[in-house]
Amino acid sequence: MSRRDVIVLGAGAAGTAAAWHLARSGCHVRVVHAAAGATALWNGVVDGLPGTPSPAESELLSLLGICAPTSPAKLLNIFGILREADAHDDALLDVASARPALVLVPTLPRAAWDGEAIAAGLRAHAGGRFDAQTIAIPDLLLPGELAWPDGAIACALDDDARRAAFEWSLTEKLATWKNTATALLLPPWLGVSKPYAKPLEKALGVGVGEVASGLAAAAGLRFVHRRDALFAHLGVEVHRSRCEAIDRDGESVRLTLKSGELVTGTHLLVAFGGFVSGALQVPRHPAISLVPAFQRSVPSLTLRADFLRVGARGKELAINGSTYGTTPEDLAHTLAGPALLDALGVLAADDGSPYGSPLPFVRIAGDALADAPRTFGHALRGGIRAAQKLLNA
Ligand SMILES: Cc1cc2nc3c(=O)[nH]c(=O)nc-3n(C[C@H](O)[C@H](O)[C@H](O)COP(=O)(O)OP(=O)(O)OC[C@H]3O[C@@H](n4cnc5c(N)ncnc54)[C@H](O)[C@@H]3O)c2cc1C
Repeated sequence: MSRRDVIVLGAGAAGTAAAWHLARSGCHVRVVHAAAGATALWNGVVDGLPGTPSPAESELLSLLGICAPTSPAKLLNIFGILREADAHDDALLDVASARPALVLVPTLPRAAWDGEAIAAGLRAHAGGRFDAQTIAIPDLLLPGELAWPDGAIACALDDDARRAAFEWSLTEKLATWKNTATALLLPPWLGVSKPYAKPLEKALGVGVGEVASGLAAAAGLRFVHRRDALFAHLGVEVHRSRCEAIDRDGESVRLTLKSGELVTGTHLLVAFGGFVSGALQVPRHPAISLVPAFQRSVPSLTLRADFLRVGARGKELAINGSTYGTTPEDLAHTLAGPALLDALGVLAADDGSPYGSPLPFVRIAGDALADAPRTFGHALRGGIRAAQKLLNA
């Protein structure tokens, strides 16, 4: 295979998987990305990865600190509700593989954490398989940290001195439970650049894990950290700037970035996500400013690319002939099947190349794709597959 110059637009689960596969297959890879997408806000739970992961998927999952147990994991959210998942950030407590007898849940003077409710939820959902008990640890956080968001506490726990104090509070409290407690459930705080769940588990001698994060918390931050380390290790060239336009230039493709840079390559992998990453928008139409805003919504891409078409259910977005544009009912009416807003994206042919413009050197993956499930697993698996198709094109 000749050495290819591939641009990967986007660095969420799909772009990262594609860039990893392409770089280790010998391509020169440039990744262009800006700001956070859905993956950076991800909660640590992986759906959309049914069955046994392929050897390539398993290798990447492990590099990203994600476990894929042989049977579905059972994870907890902030309400103590258990739910199944195909895989998860390895800091999350999987009660299916940990098989705890008694889970301790701290009560903390913090509005975002209701230990009593989580323990009650856990008991209700455990179906008698294990018990849950609250444990008061008021000094687990320093007074100044009480109002911090979870992600900031996770970053603070990358520091060894802060960890020592945190561990000391826990060791002291857990002494009473030494022979009965088998697991400790914590908020999503267990480190970012230095994942802390396993070291803490070793120090305390019980299973330790987090609940699934809320928005912009530890799991997404850990992903970003591991992704950046992976790119550095693979020698992937990274351009952190918003892409404003994609142009074809003979046999090559050219991206114009907000920074003023031009990035060119022989191949392009589009993994720029959807509404969450800001790749898709519902703009206001300036010419009809007297019309109520909700009647002016026409989803479109936020960058210029003449060969990418926005649509859903296999069709370009149909504007219903009204000067007012698409109505919210057209876009999101849940009674008519899956919400259209969830399905909107870039239309693609069966081989993942752009619909209506059969370009063998372009592939689309992840949330960017119209009609694709919006899951971490689908984005990761789709990123690897799109990269393989690009290599075989
Ligand atoms: C709060 C939340 C909870 C979730 N919960 C779950 C769950 O429980 N289970 C599950 O499986 N999935 C969950 N998901 C969904 C999952 O995280 C996404 O489906 C997946 O991460 C999408 O990855 P992606 O790479 O396709 O897109 P993204 O992660 O959105 O990445 C898009 C990338 O494109 C870049 N980009 C966009 N436009 C431009 C531009 N013009 N120029 C340069 N760069 C650009 C962004 O910077 C970003 O790097 C959740 C998502 C969120 C937000």
